[in-house]
Amino acid sequence: MKTTGTQKWGPQTNSVHAGEPNRHGVGAPVGTEICRSSTFTFSSTAEMKLWAEGKSKAYIYTRYGNPTLTVAQGKIAALEGAEAAVVTASGMAAISSALLSALKAGDELISTAQLYGGSYRLMRDIFPNMGITVHHVETDLAGLEEKLSPKTKVLYVETPTNPMLRLVDLHKAIVFAKKHKLISIIDNTFATPILQNPIAMGYDMVVHSATKALAGHTDIIAGAVAGSAEWMKHIQHMVISLGGSMDPEAAFLLIRGMKTLGLRVQRQCENAMAVAEFLETHPAVARVHYPGLKSHADHEVAKKQMRGFGSMLAFDLKGGIEAACAFGDRVQLFLLAVSLGGTESLVALPLYSSHYNMSDAELQRAGVSPGTVRVSMGVEDAADLIADLQQALG
Ligand code: PLP
Repeated sequence: MKTTGTQKWGPQTNSVHAGEPNRHGVGAPVGTEICRSSTFTFSSTAEMKLWAEGKSKAYIYTRYGNPTLTVAQGKIAALEGAEAAVVTASGMAAISSALLSALKAGDELISTAQLYGGSYRLMRDIFPNMGITVHHVETDLAGLEEKLSPKTKVLYVETPTNPMLRLVDLHKAIVFAKKHKLISIIDNTFATPILQNPIAMGYDMVVHSATKALAGHTDIIAGAVAGSAEWMKHIQHMVISLGGSMDPEAAFLLIRGMKTLGLRVQRQCENAMAVAEFLETHPAVARVHYPGLKSHADHEVAKKQMRGFGSMLAFDLKGGIEAACAFGDRVQLFLLAVSLGGTESLVALPLYSSHYNMSDAELQRAGVSPGTVRVSMGVEDAADLIADLQQALG
């Protein structure tokens, strides 16, 4: 399928047009077609042989590639300013495929400790059994040099972090990775390519839970990795072998969602700022964590490296876990649910969701307190959201 390649377009134009087949002429569908087929024909055994010899890029089987997946990949690559992208069945499939492509037994990985709980648990529970040693640093990257050894292969960061919205200085991290020839991988789920583009700064790979803002409508589980064409070959191989490939139906929903990415993120950023400012004045709230607030520890870093402050925030209630539960049980417009980046505003207690099964020390390191509530802003009207918060806070 002929696709529209990476152009020098703005992000919202890329969201709509990049990766799509040529739609000029008579009778071309404007909406993206779903290629719902697991397998593809060859016209001759000679063509099949060419494929087997790596001399043909023909589609053979959807786990290896599919025209609808190609459209999604073209869009994500264009948005991230990367040569290529690979879509996966989930964000965790993207993260595990990226890390396992870069690491082997005996290697060491340095990662920020403040991570999405699933990524943290992958490093804590699975990697040691595979002979991969994980070292953690704080989001300020203090002590990075001490964690370094000749076996260190990868620097992995997430910024802003889930759920406490701390920021890693992207410039500082990439300078360190380049200096020590480490493979740099960043989880760009919270920022989205609308707000920051780490590939342009020299990062090797960007990973996404495309379940979140990229798809944007809370109706699929999806992931993506973006980077150089060479790296994406390794990722594709890993996805083919481990089986974390995306379904074409999910790819269609991802593509459709991405077409409005810029509009949604802009609205969510505005809503998040309005809600953060309201919460900061509320007597029941001990602290609001939103990078757009001057009171946020990483506000200056956010201003330097992000084009907006994002759709996520968290706040700590003075009344601890009882107050957080009461609040969660009282919301009427906000929905009590995990995940993020969709059109509906959501609240969740990290203690009972992303950060379950963690020790007190791990929670403290992540900055999660018993009264912490995480908020994912949707695209509703800010005044309605604030009215709901007001009544739920009592
Ligand atoms: N990365 C971040 C920052 C996340 O918030 C999540 C999920 O919440 C993931 C990765 C994992 O993505 P998925 O649930 O699509 O596997």
